Amino acid sequence: MAPDQPLLTVAIAMVVLLGLVLSASRPPGLLEDSALADSDGAQSAEDGDRLPATGEFDQLTTVSPDAVPGTEEVTLAYEGGADVSVTYPSIPNAGPLSDFLDRTLTAQVHAFEAANPGARAFLGEWGLTAAEDGIVGVRMTTTETDSEETREGHSTYWYEVDTGAVHGSSHLLAGQAELAELNERVREAVSDTDAAPSALYPISALYDSVGFNPDGDLVVEFDAGQVAPVSAGRVHAVLPRDEAESLLSDLGLRVREAATTGVREFTVSDAPEAEKDGSSSQAAPGVLSPRDDSVDCSDPAAKCVALTYDDGPGGGTPELLDALAAHDAKATFFVTGLPVVEHPWVVRRTYAEGHEVANHTLDHPNLTELSKGAARKNLEATQALVYRETGYTMDLMRPPYGATDGQVAEVTAELGLAQILWSADTNDWRDRKASVVRKRALGDAEHGAIILMHDIHPTTIDASIDIIRELDERGYSMVTVSQLLGTAEPGRTYVDGLPEEESEEGAPDGSE
Ligand code: ZN
Repeated sequence: MAPDQPLLTVAIAMVVLLGLVLSASRPPGLLEDSALADSDGAQSAEDGDRLPATGEFDQLTTVSPDAVPGTEEVTLAYEGGADVSVTYPSIPNAGPLSDFLDRTLTAQVHAFEAANPGARAFLGEWGLTAAEDGIVGVRMTTTETDSEETREGHSTYWYEVDTGAVHGSSHLLAGQAELAELNERVREAVSDTDAAPSALYPISALYDSVGFNPDGDLVVEFDAGQVAPVSAGRVHAVLPRDEAESLLSDLGLRVREAATTGVREFTVSDAPEAEKDGSSSQAAPGVLSPRDDSVDCSDPAAKCVALTYDDGPGGGTPELLDALAAHDAKATFFVTGLPVVEHPWVVRRTYAEGHEVANHTLDHPNLTELSKGAARKNLEATQALVYRETGYTMDLMRPPYGATDGQVAEVTAELGLAQILWSADTNDWRDRKASVVRKRALGDAEHGAIILMHDIHPTTIDASIDIIRELDERGYSMVTVSQLLGTAEPGRTYVDGLPEEESEEGAPDGSE
């Protein structure tokens, strides 16, 4: 026998002893390893064998995909001009989740391409942030590159195993008031960062990545460039567990429970019973309608009038929004693509305050002079720009100069857009005098009227402040065009909100 064998035995004994001493003196915060090894009997058995969740304080909990056996990675099939590489998870018996992700990611990539002439690449990767108690949380990380820059963003979706419904992150909040309260807390929390308070509104497109850290604190994260310059990267806020508690929906409380538990193994045992495509049937906080059911415009006594503003947003639009808010009045903004790029947060505010955002093309061409494909592309670009800012898909468009024909009708029908002309033209673009604009608008105001103005002229903003006050005093309901019309058929042209037999044929000659 070699003489070193006793020494080796001693060495092994010392290593074992050292190990015992170390594990006995380990602080409680470092228990993960021993719990994972199942050697920590007493402690973990007491709280139902729960494992601690893993993740950083300012991040959403992370769950290893290995904890969900059978999960496969699917690559999004997408044909387009940009370099697209997007993957998402496919979990056995969770078909509606995969269908939802496929559809939602396809819409995101399409909007990125349609809104960016310089679109180069779109990458999408996924991770899990919860897989427990019938809930699966999927957090997507997307990286967009265009000719200007590269931006990283996140969105987090919540799948309910038993119902087969997928919820966006705003569903974690109990309602619109709670989302608005969260928005206020977030404004305070990010006040010492590069984030702009005027970029933060309680809409679901902004609160699309909300979840919990392993301690159950609420984590909100914004995409690069969404509320601060792109160079600031990911802006986030952490709301302590106790403060967030009263803002959460039942789903939010369930999600918190799931996200604060480490996952040993999770399987979806059965597919949902009903045929589901993953859509959530509940109205989500932060998804706003341009219609207010408290006013019925089919009743002439309601005195409904639609103020409409084209070619913006402009520098004076916030002042106009203030005036509308002061009188609880709604208006419709036919926005043009380039101003949307210049004032994205004004578009966000317009939507958040219940006004209607509608399509007035990318760069104001006469659509009747374009090929069908070019007209479609022009409208699609603005459709995508507004969707990316607000999550809202517009239902209405106004052809520049009021110029439309059969081909424009076809294109707008395909895009789901009704064509809105006007019954009253203030000619505010030509006569830059507030008193003149005011007189024309008030003179033509009557039940069912659609009044044409442009919020890029300071004189129109000044006139509107008086017009709104005066119409309010005269008992008018200032409503969005969608509310005025009730239903608007894509492709069809409307000049006012009166029933068909009373409506004028075609729009007056406008030189908008
Ligand atoms: Zn215009």
